Amino acid sequence: MKLADRIQRLGTETAFAVSAEAAAHAAQGNSVYPFHLGDMNLATPANVTEAAVKAMRDGKTGYCPNAGIPRLRELLAADVSASHGVRYSLENVAIQPGGKPTIGKFFLALLNPGDEVLYPSPGYPIYESQIEFLGGVAKPYRYREGERTFTIDIEEMRRQITPRTRLLVLNDLQNPTGAECSAAEREALAELVLANDLYVLCDEAYFDIRYDGRSTSFVSLPGMAERCIILYTFSKKFAMTGWRLGASIGPRPIIDVIAKLNVNDESCSNHFVQFGAIEGLTGDPSGPRQILRILKERRDLAVELLNGVKGVHCLRPNATFYLFPNVTQAMQTRGFSDVESFRRSLLRETGVSVCSRLHFGRPLPGEHQCYIRLAYSGINAAEIREGLGRFKAFIEG
Ligand code: PLP
Repeated sequence: MKLADRIQRLGTETAFAVSAEAAAHAAQGNSVYPFHLGDMNLATPANVTEAAVKAMRDGKTGYCPNAGIPRLRELLAADVSASHGVRYSLENVAIQPGGKPTIGKFFLALLNPGDEVLYPSPGYPIYESQIEFLGGVAKPYRYREGERTFTIDIEEMRRQITPRTRLLVLNDLQNPTGAECSAAEREALAELVLANDLYVLCDEAYFDIRYDGRSTSFVSLPGMAERCIILYTFSKKFAMTGWRLGASIGPRPIIDVIAKLNVNDESCSNHFVQFGAIEGLTGDPSGPRQILRILKERRDLAVELLNGVKGVHCLRPNATFYLFPNVTQAMQTRGFSDVESFRRSLLRETGVSVCSRLHFGRPLPGEHQCYIRLAYSGINAAEIREGLGRFKAFIEG
């Protein structure tokens, strides 16, 4: 079969292959501790579910406007305006079937073949996939492990910029590192954006998955709202990963293009699900609060247990539901030189299933430390305790 040439440039989420390995291990009768996938084992708040079911019963089962139902666009604009300190209205919001579609649509709207795009590595793999699929040049920028969080190497990023560099992907509150930009980092990035006339995809999938304090959006810096498209999703805050609902939020000329892409792609997002989201934004907020409480307990437990393992060092991110421990020394102790064989042996011998750095892009030149990624969104506290007990025994013998 002769497929289109561009298909060779389309990447994927290799983390799904880890799921398949974990499932195969479980099928042989073994226990599996699922730290690999960013899915959630928590229920969507009941009031959200009820509102969607009611809408379905009330006949909200036909097409709706391509950019989403006006009431949801209006409410989301108000909600994000309040949390971001920026003024958005209904025209700045195009509802999407999930957070992910904003990635491809952002590039379709703004990327010409040969344009260079700065994107994080390690980072969510779909950025690189979409950039290369659409004929762009993917230029990874580096996160370095710091004292309290991972930080972007902004000087190195600056040196990578050429006259062909047009776009930046910023995933503050980051998957997989859990990193959060400091105010100084945000300011330096904004300066870079203005000086080089860049447009920015602000992937805010984890903006509300935060345990202390408040998130600050990059769009709230002077001049940024005009240049940023926010990837918003209902997936994480409301434990709605399988419902598929999110939004692109930003300057109207780009949102109009994205709405036109909606017409061409899916016509509209699921109609009755949008009524669930309205309830999420306006109704009883105890559901999302409970989700955060549970995730925070899991984070504290997992960080403590990981740091109790010899040769493992794990930062304690204040946001996301991911941990990205440095396992360089632990690997050396056990005689592993590559992180993927370490990960596979860990699964085979203990049932503990994790991703490695390699599921989040190719290592960059000079990168010598080894990392694994654990998600605690799909695993209960008791399993975390048992799984990380096995992890400790695997490393320490
Ligand atoms: N962006 C990042 C950084 C993610 O980690 C994810 C999902 O894991 C997404 C976007 C996609 O979110 P959604 O499930 O809403 O499409």
